[in-house]
Amino acid sequence: MTDQKPETYSLTAYATEAPSNPLTPATIDRREPTDLDVQIEILYCGVCHSDIHFARNEWGFTQYPAVPGHEIVGRVTQVGSKVTKFKVGDLAGVGCMVGADMSCPHCKAGNEQYSPTMVGTYGSTEPFIGGPTFGGYSENIVVNEHFALRVPENLDLAGVAPLLCAGITTYSPLRYWQVGPGQKVGVVGLGGLGHMAVKFARAFGAHVVVFTTSPSKKEDAMRLGAHEVIVSRNEEEMQAHTGTFDFILDCVSAEHDLNAYLAMLTVEGKMAIVGAPDKPLPVAVFSLIMGRKTLGGSMIGSIGETQEMLDFCGQHGITSDIEMIRMDQINEAYERMLKSDVKYRFVIDMATLKA
Ligand code: NAP
Ligand code: ZN
Repeated sequence: MTDQKPETYSLTAYATEAPSNPLTPATIDRREPTDLDVQIEILYCGVCHSDIHFARNEWGFTQYPAVPGHEIVGRVTQVGSKVTKFKVGDLAGVGCMVGADMSCPHCKAGNEQYSPTMVGTYGSTEPFIGGPTFGGYSENIVVNEHFALRVPENLDLAGVAPLLCAGITTYSPLRYWQVGPGQKVGVVGLGGLGHMAVKFARAFGAHVVVFTTSPSKKEDAMRLGAHEVIVSRNEEEMQAHTGTFDFILDCVSAEHDLNAYLAMLTVEGKMAIVGAPDKPLPVAVFSLIMGRKTLGGSMIGSIGETQEMLDFCGQHGITSDIEMIRMDQINEAYERMLKSDVKYRFVIDMATLKA
């Protein structure tokens, strides 16, 4: 990136020190903005289920203290001398990545998210000052301008925050696998990711069907854009749809039976996983070979595609359905998410961080 060794400054965040500890107020350090950095005052931060996996070290790579949060929107408060994309006062967003070498084949192909050098907003090592990268449950963030997104001015800012992860994570596979008119598309799990998948699949013109374990979400699913809802624990409802789906997007955060959904695919149907449970999910090969089916996966999306998604949302008036919380409600919010009790994304009002 650059040989500059920046100074650091201290700020307030919410952090956890160990997998079973709650999140509590903490002081962390960030680098002072370098020539190509912007500093963003964080106004809202979405709460992704990945924040829980990460805070509790369920994926096994968490460095502590851990500061989650990668659905960040706010206002630019400082710009480095070589920054051209933003000026002080602009709205800006930051998602799950804050860096990459930009020179490897994946970066050159416009897929920074798959670069081996990708730096996560949290869960990576800070490339300039060392130590863990700290996420958005904090006063502000410093990021290379390439990894900051322009935010449409016409949308509710709190409802935009979840687009930076839940939005792009569902938009990208639906685009990559070319979901559109004439297709029957399933969305498994109506949480933060799932509800955005429903909105996008509907906007792309598909026939959208939600699979949920929560019968109480049926009406919401239809309001969000689904044409049909299947309660996945109801065998009869499941059987009625066997072999009929062109594409299924799996947004589930916990262990579940993939084979039950592969059976829903038509011949040459495709299923992509974006949910990231900590345990392996067994696949019976016959679920795939009977009908030449494809099972794939997808991680967030590139910066270019994230900007495309935000612009698309601006044009179509798409935001996340949110429940605003105070920073000190974060531990309770995690417990509610684990019970699938979120409609459909918690967003932290960061003005409450120091309240
Ligand atoms: P979320 O809001 O908690 O939603 C997860 C949904 O999964 C729940 O609302 C529930 O939907 C369903 N579910 C939960 N437990 C279940 C179980 N035991 N069996 C079946 N269904 C269950 O989580 P999220 O923020 O959308 O994240 C979902 C997953 O995606 C997480 O694992 C997260 O880490 C991962 N993720 C991946 C990426 C990526 O780049 N691939 C990016 C962001 C997040 P119903 O009530 O409708 O059943
Ligand atoms: Zn996320």
